[in-house]
Amino acid sequence: MNEQHTLLIIDDIVDNLMLLGEAMSSEYKIKVATSGVQGLELAVQKPKPDLILLDIMMPGINGYEVCRRLKENDQTRNIPVIFLSALDKESDELQGLDAGAVDFITKPFKLEVVRARINTQLELLQMRQQLQTARLKAEAASQSKSVFLANMSHEIRTPMSAIMGMTDLALEKASDPQQKSYLETVKLSADSLLALINDILDFSKIEAGQMELDEHPFVLAETIEAAMRTVSILSKEKGLGITLEIAPDVPVAVAGDSLRFRQIILNLLSNAIKFSEKGTIRINVTLVHAGLETITLRVAVTDQGAGIKKEKIHSIFSAFSQADSSVSRKFGGTGLGLAICRQLCELMDGTINVESEYGKGSTFSFTAMFATSSQEKITRQKKSSSEIMNIRPVRVLLVEDNAANRFLIRVVLEKFKHEVVEAVDGIEALHIILEDQFDLILTDVQMPKLDGYQFTRIIRACEEGKEIDPHIADKMDNNLISNLRLRLHGKHRLVISMTANAMSGDKEKCFTAGMDDYLTKPLNQEELVITLNRWFPDK
Ligand code: ADP
Repeated sequence: MNEQHTLLIIDDIVDNLMLLGEAMSSEYKIKVATSGVQGLELAVQKPKPDLILLDIMMPGINGYEVCRRLKENDQTRNIPVIFLSALDKESDELQGLDAGAVDFITKPFKLEVVRARINTQLELLQMRQQLQTARLKAEAASQSKSVFLANMSHEIRTPMSAIMGMTDLALEKASDPQQKSYLETVKLSADSLLALINDILDFSKIEAGQMELDEHPFVLAETIEAAMRTVSILSKEKGLGITLEIAPDVPVAVAGDSLRFRQIILNLLSNAIKFSEKGTIRINVTLVHAGLETITLRVAVTDQGAGIKKEKIHSIFSAFSQADSSVSRKFGGTGLGLAICRQLCELMDGTINVESEYGKGSTFSFTAMFATSSQEKITRQKKSSSEIMNIRPVRVLLVEDNAANRFLIRVVLEKFKHEVVEAVDGIEALHIILEDQFDLILTDVQMPKLDGYQFTRIIRACEEGKEIDPHIADKMDNNLISNLRLRLHGKHRLVISMTANAMSGDKEKCFTAGMDDYLTKPLNQEELVITLNRWFPDK
């Protein structure tokens, strides 16, 4: 079985080399070296040895040193080394094993013993390699599972955005109280379904290494208060108070991912409310460390609720784990919330912990590192959606393959008196652009025939008189391209993409393709309005 294996024998005594080489040559390919230096050279040359037999006492560098150097080199680190030596003290053997050898045989040796030990080491090596291959395969499978989950949850969010948007619109129009209550139920269910999908998406994105934090300056108190506002109806319904205390030495503003920071707090707050029947929920923010460029904060959320049994505490930060399934069944939940919090904290170079007493309450606290930032840096570009009324009506070319989403976006835009022309894919949109003028092109990213990126690249190339990527040009009619060049040259069209932002890099891809801005799906009315506000001057 070992015919293909190559042995490298390093010994300064030629007789030893001859003896061993001859004895082993029927089973192995043999390479020999008469010094440590030569041995190190041969160890990296092809065919690379599968195992090295190494003498200790040699002029120049001795066997221990050769072994150490082999272990330091990435190319030779995994080749097992067996020492063959006349030294027979225990300390010699220890020194050899210390240098990284897997075995130590003292001279004079029996050839059968050497052969048996070589075979054992080669079998072990083979098993290690098989294990390594299996581990890589398992990791790849787990990675593709996470990517699949992230993609699926994104796909599910597309129709969800239509369901939620249309329900909102129907609710605005509904006058019959019974119809209204049916629609409110649809909305509530859609909201919780979306929360669930978002959890799965976040979790799988993090697992697939696709979660990226978006750093920007923000005011801490505003972000925490936003989370408090989100749960205020729930807390009032249960008669629970929520207080916020920020230590005086905590800076007003920091730079980091405020949305993800808020997400952690929101999760902890929602749990505190979910598992409490009385008392006040306290949020405390303290300073752990303040450096010149970074700052570490601790946020603690304390409740006087159900508490967690000691034996369950260790598992609650794991995915899909719930301390008390009966309580959780009552309140719903996936058991993903804390697992996501833990992963988000890790992304923020922090940790999350819990102290809890069953029946008395819990304190969940996490640390997170931010970059320092001054409050002045925070630009308040956002206007509230009511200000949309001030925007002049604009002509929008809406490029979207999903009919329900098209309809929804059209209705929202028309509500604010904007004019909408629809295209079902990039090619149709390019034909329309040839004939018509628009203030804004609002395009989906994933579309058949020509996706949003390719579509935008063509527009930019035509505007700037540049070459079109041959892969994209192949899909196109030459006439269409030359007419577009004539029509678009010299002027910049405003292109805003709608991306599900399911995987990291989506945003960057939009900007690289030449888009001016992006909206995330599921589209919400407020975000659409705020973005339009940014691009169009007030009346
Ligand atoms: P979910 O709330 O969706 O079940 P989480 O990961 O957020 O998932 O929480 C996991 C479990 O930890 C919960 O099911 C609950 O058993 C326990 N838990 C979390 N927060 C609290 C809390 N404030 N008080 C008591 N138990 C809690």
